[in-house]
Order: sequence, then C-alpha cells, then structure tokens
Amino acid sequence: MKAGEYQAGIAPYGYKKDTEIKNHLVIDENVSYIVQEIFDMYANKGMSTIKIADELNNRNITPPGIYMKMPNTIKNLNSKNPDGRYLWLRTQIGSMLKNQVYIGNVVSGKKEQISPKIKKGKMKEKSEYIIKENMHEPIISKELWNKVQEKLSSYNTDTRKKYEYPLKDLVYCGECGNKARFQHNKSKTKSGKVCWEGNCAVCGKRADYRSLCDNVVIGEKILMNAVRNAIIEEIKKIEYTSKELKAIYNNAQRKAKSTANIIQSELSNKNKELNKIEDEIKCLYEKKVTRQISIDKFKELYEIMSERKMKIVQEIEKLNNEIKNNKKGTKGKNKEYKQMEKLANEFLKIENPDNEILKKLVKRVVFDKNKKITVELTFSQI
Ligand SMILES: [Zn+2]
Repeated sequence: MKAGEYQAGIAPYGYKKDTEIKNHLVIDENVSYIVQEIFDMYANKGMSTIKIADELNNRNITPPGIYMKMPNTIKNLNSKNPDGRYLWLRTQIGSMLKNQVYIGNVVSGKKEQISPKIKKGKMKEKSEYIIKENMHEPIISKELWNKVQEKLSSYNTDTRKKYEYPLKDLVYCGECGNKARFQHNKSKTKSGKVCWEGNCAVCGKRADYRSLCDNVVIGEKILMNAVRNAIIEEIKKIEYTSKELKAIYNNAQRKAKSTANIIQSELSNKNKELNKIEDEIKCLYEKKVTRQISIDKFKELYEIMSERKMKIVQEIEKLNNEIKNNKKGTKGKNKEYKQMEKLANEFLKIENPDNEILKKLVKRVVFDKNKKITVELTFSQI
C-alpha cells in the first residue's frame, strides 16, 4: 500500500471512487455543490454549523450517510427525527469543514496501527499525520478553505478551551434519555453588548439538531443549585439518623444475626443431604462389587447420584458465601455512610466544586423540558 492514496472503503461525501484508478477519488457532481455551499455558508454568510444543518434539512437535501448508504448511519437512531426522517447534524458539518480531502489532500497515519487484526488504533498527534497534497481534484479553493479554518480556530480558542464543566458526564435529558452536552453561551443585545453569559447544558441529541428532541437548554447554575439542595437534604437525613446510628447499627446486626441463623440451619440440612448421598454412592459401589447390579445399571445410577451430589455441593458453597457477605454487609455500610457524610459536608464548603468530587457524590442529574430537575445521589440508599 502506498501512503497518500485514499484507502477508506467509502469515498467522502462529495467524491466517489474512481472506477479506473484504484483508491483515487473523483468528484461526485450530484452533491459536490452542496460541499461548496457548506463552506461558503460558513465562511461568507456568517452561518453557524447548526444553521447550516437547518438550511440543508429545510431544503430536504439527503444527509451524507443516507446518500452514501452507510450502514452505521442507518443504524444510528440519534440522527433520526421522531417522524423517521434522517437529518443533517451540526457535528457532521463541523467535521466536513475540517476535512482536507476537499482541497485535494489525502491524510493518513491518523491512527497508530497496533496490529493488522486490531482495527482501533491509538490516535496520533495532528503534527504526525502524513499529508499528501494534490491527490485528486479539489472541491474547495485554498482561499475559501483558509477562511473557514481561521474562523474555526478562533471559535475554538474563544469558547471551548477556557471553560470547565463540573457536571460533565453527570447530566441527562429527561425527554429522550441522552447525555447532555455542556457549552458556554453568550446572549448579546442588538448593539452587541453581552447581557448574559454562562455555562449551559443541552440534550446531546438536540445539540446535534434541534428537532431531534424538544428539551430546552438549562443553566449550569440551576443544575448546580439542585445538586446542592439534594445534598443538603440528604445530609439532614444522615444527621438525623446519626443520632440514632447506634440503634440502626444494632438493628442491622440483629437482622444479620437472624439471617445468619437461617442460613446456618439451611447449611446443616444440606450437609446432612450430602452425607446421605455419599452413603448411597458407597452402597452402590458395594452392590457393583458383589454383582448385585449390572455394570450398565451401576453406570446409570452412579451418574444420577453424582449429579445430585454436585448440586448439593454447589448449594453448600452458595450458602457459605452468603454467610460471608452477611457479615461484611453490616460493617461495610456503616463505614460507607460515614465517608459519604464527610465528603458531602466538604462539598458544601467548596464554592466551585469540580468534576471529581461531584462524580463521587452524584449518580445522575436529569432535567426535562419544564426544567424539572431530579438529582440521584450516590449515597442516598445507604
Ligand atoms: Zn433529549
């Protein structure tokens, strides 16, 4: 294989594979104008990736995955409208705007091949990519490409890198169940003055395209307040019970003891059964030796009895494990309880808690289109 040839199985949107030269791309005149329009809308018409997706969807332009009959897109329900229609997504537009294939380059070596058998290699640094220029006819001029790249990079340094999202990976959409994405938003007045600025969570599906989910955007502060309140409520419960912690603990121990008694008596029954079957097996051997039964009959009965024996041995093992867990259960819970109480109190003292502490305390936060927030904590069921 020569580096610089287009190796992927399917040509990128806007191109098709040459029928004469292997791994060479030729322009797909049916859709290449769409690629040009996308670059133009972004560079010259001040349109964002979501606006561009809007425009293409309103014009009923078939999205790339469907046009190229890519099996992954057809399976991916995230790009499907509730009415069953597949849509252009902003992430798709974004990756097209960054794809050098449209200026005639072929980029390879993005992934480190671990072995020919493992498809998923480690992603390499951008500076390590192998770029071959002028490998096929470009769809986009260098001039337009540069304009787009400039705009993309200013957007990246402006909004993406500066912000950290403490609730990242913990927030979910209550309407469709998708994980929420965080973004830094600004609202401007007509004169261009920033009148609101802050982090927001948006349903991941809706972030790709609005009509995919009808949830609304919600402020990070609102979510954080809900988390704080839920933790305060939970601590109140802990404080209340901590006065009675001893009673709870004693109660749990008493329960554990009675459970232990039940398991213990089951265990002794099983042991008796085991002895009995072992005796029966011994008896069977004697019958074989003294030729009271035929070899075939012996084999048949022996099989049945060994199977029964195995079953009993397994049951005994299970009961022994139950005894161990029962002992661990009461001790572990008490300790966990104390640790979480300490952590929760620490959290309440911090003004800007980070993702690390939040991940320890919060299982998930769900918000719906009426901005109703449900907080599930990691320690509420202790
Ligand atoms: Zn949603």
